Amino acid sequence: MISGTTSVAAVIGSPVRHSRSPRIHNAAFVAAGLDWVYVALEVERGRGFDAVRALPVLGIGGINVTMPHKADAARACDNLTETAAALGSVNTVVVNADGSTRGDSTDGEGFVRSVADAGLDVAGRSVLVLGAGGAARAVAAALVARRAQVRVAARRHRAAAELADRVPGVEVAPWPEKSSDAEVVVNATPIGMGTDTAMAVQPRSEQWIVDLVYHPVETALLAEARRVGAHPVGGLGMLVHQAALSFEQWTGVPAPLAAMFEAAG
Ligand code: NAP
Repeated sequence: MISGTTSVAAVIGSPVRHSRSPRIHNAAFVAAGLDWVYVALEVERGRGFDAVRALPVLGIGGINVTMPHKADAARACDNLTETAAALGSVNTVVVNADGSTRGDSTDGEGFVRSVADAGLDVAGRSVLVLGAGGAARAVAAALVARRAQVRVAARRHRAAAELADRVPGVEVAPWPEKSSDAEVVVNATPIGMGTDTAMAVQPRSEQWIVDLVYHPVETALLAEARRVGAHPVGGLGMLVHQAALSFEQWTGVPAPLAAMFEAAG
């Protein structure tokens, strides 16, 4: 029951009404028995900084940040974790008891946890990341931190080069690579989203194919990976794990992962 003492969490973005985060977090609050509620707030481009600065004024417990506000949120927070500072990007804001704000980026750690769930330890692996946007950057940084050998390919070579400049240890690979000899390939582009049946790469048998796209849950790339005897890993696991990491920072309570997975699926 929502009352005057209910704590509020939210996601800010634009567009944001389609977000699965309210479903995942509200299920988590119920499962953990917490008097919290999570809503989606449509915040127009250019107002992300103001929105983050308003959190302590409104007494909001914490927020997630999605496109196009991740960089503005990083600028607006009083403190950043090392990861968020390195990426210049924030997807989680915690409002401390003294009203100060701390920004973090949980996508990279969420990625690592999701592939670990599937049985993949990324340490020492050769990984090709396709795409050079926000998700690719977070994933590449998390992989380098775990001593993977990371190459990035993007349709705009310059974007891949910028990512490599920003994340030391990453090398640039040519795009498109029909198939790759990397042990792990990560699709960090929207190719395969919704009704798109295109594939960012042709999977090889025994290769790990990680698709960050989670709508649909089974993309054409994952189906093909299964068909050729590769190891397919979908994007829902990363979505849930990055959410769980946010939840734990706001509430200080272990995330009820099973309930979150059920709500996400
Ligand atoms: P983003 O910042 O917009 O970056 C998208 C990247 O994909 C850019 O490098 C873009 O290239 C490239 N791209 C877009 N369309 C392409 C196409 N048709 N062919 C080749 N490259 C293309 O987006 P993002 O936030 O990184 O997200 C990327 C994907 O990851 C999305 O599908 C998103 O849903 C998914 N994601 C999943 C999770 C999760 O938890 N599972 C978390 C974050 C993101 P240009 O710069 O040239 O446009």
